Amino acid sequence: MSTPTQTATLEHWIAGRAHPGDEDGRFSEVTESATGEVVARVPLASTALVDQAVKAATAAAADWRESSISQRSKVLFAFRELVHAHREQFAALIVREHGKVFSDALGEVQRGLEIVEFACGIGELLKGDMTAQVSRGVDSYSIRQPLGVVAGITPFNFPSMVPMWMYPLAIACGNAFVLKPSEQDPSPSLLAAQLWERAGLPAGVFNVVHGDKESVDAILEHPGIAAVSFVGSTPIARYVYERGTAHGKRVQALGGAKNHAVVLPDADMELAADSLVSAGYGSAGQRCMAVSVAVTVGDAAGPLLDKIQERIAALKVGDGTDPESEMGPLVSERHRARVASYVDAGAAEGAVVLADGRDLGPGPARPEGGHFLGPTLLDRVTPGMTVYDEEIFGPVLVVVRADSYPEALALVNANPYGNGAAIFTNDGGAARAFEHDVTAGMVGINVPIPVPMAYHSFGGWKASLFGDLHVHGNEGIQFYTRGKVVTRRWADPAHRGVDLGFPVSR
Ligand code: NAD
Repeated sequence: MSTPTQTATLEHWIAGRAHPGDEDGRFSEVTESATGEVVARVPLASTALVDQAVKAATAAAADWRESSISQRSKVLFAFRELVHAHREQFAALIVREHGKVFSDALGEVQRGLEIVEFACGIGELLKGDMTAQVSRGVDSYSIRQPLGVVAGITPFNFPSMVPMWMYPLAIACGNAFVLKPSEQDPSPSLLAAQLWERAGLPAGVFNVVHGDKESVDAILEHPGIAAVSFVGSTPIARYVYERGTAHGKRVQALGGAKNHAVVLPDADMELAADSLVSAGYGSAGQRCMAVSVAVTVGDAAGPLLDKIQERIAALKVGDGTDPESEMGPLVSERHRARVASYVDAGAAEGAVVLADGRDLGPGPARPEGGHFLGPTLLDRVTPGMTVYDEEIFGPVLVVVRADSYPEALALVNANPYGNGAAIFTNDGGAARAFEHDVTAGMVGINVPIPVPMAYHSFGGWKASLFGDLHVHGNEGIQFYTRGKVVTRRWADPAHRGVDLGFPVSR
């Protein structure tokens, strides 16, 4: 697929081919984050168009369910090779529409590819278990079967990786998939659709519908969709969970985050400062596993904040296509203005602004019109301030000072979000206690962004997840299948005839 030319008109992908969308349908604009220029128009699907995609998926699911495990593996291996071969093309689309720097975009593609590689082992992953002789001449075994048509609704901040958390496993399990990617950066999903086709996936097993609330509501209410995976902000995650489950669907809805990193006075301060700057400002803070709150314990604050400020001063903010840039722009002007307004509120509410990214003007690698905002550091933040209470999702690291470790832990656990949490210390006992007591789904020990590998599962606690099962790993397999237990007996001359009692083992 060629990258879109200026104001290219994108299409949906239904039943194995591009679909222009509804006649007289609505469109949304896709901007290049580094320049603010409109680079594409994306059609927004109506309820009727979503229905068309679900019908195509339903037709394809019937055959795909019957495909052998080795046939699915072959398609997945071929898809893996194609994604790997096109990784730079994926990354270029991500840089243009999202804004993250090229190396970061390549990293995102790599992490998505790891889920495809995990799914290639579907034969092992779908193995059931069996118990022979549960009663005389009777055996029992469990099998897992696909759900049918499942859907994914994904956010702007990982336009390639987050959809790949979902569709490789869903398809490997024998389902057909309808993806509704973010309308802000839709192109990587279209590239994936074309690669699936080249990999030999039958038409209709993977479909892409672009859209906004109308298409999301159509997915949540469609009787032909059995399950929905959602990743996005907490208010929409809650809405998707409630509406989807009310319509009888299995739903996993991953929401927002406010990830805390606790820094104890005995920590390696060089490591902690490197980690907090990397995890606070990478991808301009637009990661659900970004560290957005540093909790300093006792006298850790002085040395840590000095080192963070030194590093911030050296950071290069610019266009993601410039190899010198370490941090790119925010995804849209609206989001940039929103993040800036949080910094205004923090300053007004008494936070001490140690680094201020609001006045970052255009530069050699920062075109006029780009949505740039520099790394920002706010000290002496307390709960109750807007910058602490709300997810900012930008390059803003807030610092809360705690007097003791118990105070720091209580702060983390009182936060309504529970995606990730990290501790920096050289004290094994403190790290062990943190791992045991913290109320978050993913924990880092001297690791700032503890994003689990494909073969573990990813997901948070509290307001960061609605539903029970996390994504990918074994929980992903469970989400996209349902279990059946078979108890069998072959004709045996010794069977006992009619028995109305409850079956017990003999
Ligand atoms: P978002 O909630 O605005 O959008 C997510 C999806 O929902 C998009 O496809 C969007 O089109 C759709 N949507 C938006 N508004 C809707 C509405 N009113 N009704 C129905 N659907 C709607 O999120 P975003 O801004 O694209 O992404 C950033 C958010 O995602 C952050 O809060 C971030 O923390 C979160 N996120 C969480 C994880 C995680 O694993 N927990 C991972 C990545 C991102």
